[in-house]
Amino acid sequence: MIDCKAKIVSLIELREILKKIRKQNKKIVTINGSFDLLHAGHIYSFETAKQQGDILIVCLNSDRSYKKYKDKRGPIIDEYNRSIMLASLECVDYVVIFHETNPIKILDIIKPNIHCNGTEYGKNCVESDTIIKNGGKIFLIREKKDESLMKISTTEIINKIVKRYSNLSLQKKIIFLDRDGILNKDKKYVYRIVDFEFMPGIIDLLLYLKKLGYEFIIISNQSGVGRKYFSREDMNKFNRFLESQFKKYNINFLDSYFCIHDPNEIECDCRKPRFALFQRAKKEHNINMNSGWTIGDSITDCIAGKLAGTKTILLKNNLPIKKSKFIDYSSNNLINIKRIIKK
Ligand SMILES: [Zn+2]
Repeated sequence: MIDCKAKIVSLIELREILKKIRKQNKKIVTINGSFDLLHAGHIYSFETAKQQGDILIVCLNSDRSYKKYKDKRGPIIDEYNRSIMLASLECVDYVVIFHETNPIKILDIIKPNIHCNGTEYGKNCVESDTIIKNGGKIFLIREKKDESLMKISTTEIINKIVKRYSNLSLQKKIIFLDRDGILNKDKKYVYRIVDFEFMPGIIDLLLYLKKLGYEFIIISNQSGVGRKYFSREDMNKFNRFLESQFKKYNINFLDSYFCIHDPNEIECDCRKPRFALFQRAKKEHNINMNSGWTIGDSITDCIAGKLAGTKTILLKNNLPIKKSKFIDYSSNNLINIKRIIKK
């Protein structure tokens, strides 16, 4: 492999190189630009430029120069990385970085035989006087007949990326919580308000997670409804009460999802360890599952959470557990979960 870094030269090095090239009577071609987010349109320009002579020198706007003439935030790709990419192209012989807002000074040093420019700048570009004064010519790179190639532009690429991925930053970070045994003490088929009791440490944990930017969704199997131990209204009433108790501590739940089916009667896709309720939540609330966590006190919670794409924590309450690919972390109590979820 050719060491492409050798093609990236300083102005002092370039002066020496130019002396040699001129002695050999080779035709020097120049082209300039910032070439941020290199694309096929750029490559076409370089190749066309190279065909106009023997040696192609690319004058690259430095980051400083880019900030002055184009956008004070600077290019997406820094000058070092941009120069490496250009230097790795076979048709490019040298890359020289310049810091001025236009390439006039550097072109006055290079004195190219041909200076290439896009047709949008025309023959009367800012460089034109300097080139002609030194006996050179301006060559305009016309758009290729194959239209699809030249349609690519850096701005278009950026717009496409923004359009496709801007939604990502708006996606919610969610902690999926099992209910009985995580939020409230599990007293087997809990539905009576008198049976509500906070799990120790849950308030502290949720306030900590809220500070980290997480929102909370409850996903719970409530087969007591299907088994007719209590009604759907009992379940809703209990849940409203539960939410009101958390609200006292400024903790809100974004949503709650329940499977009410009796597994002996129906094989639904919403009962954990299946994960249809997670998928529904994802769809309804624009959730980034990769940044989400599932906290439960049963392996079935972890299986569902893992299959849905979240990381999982099993609250094991000092019980021995078997290792499982569905359990990312386990904790004996809720408070220690603060050490697991850091951001
Ligand atoms: Zn179900």
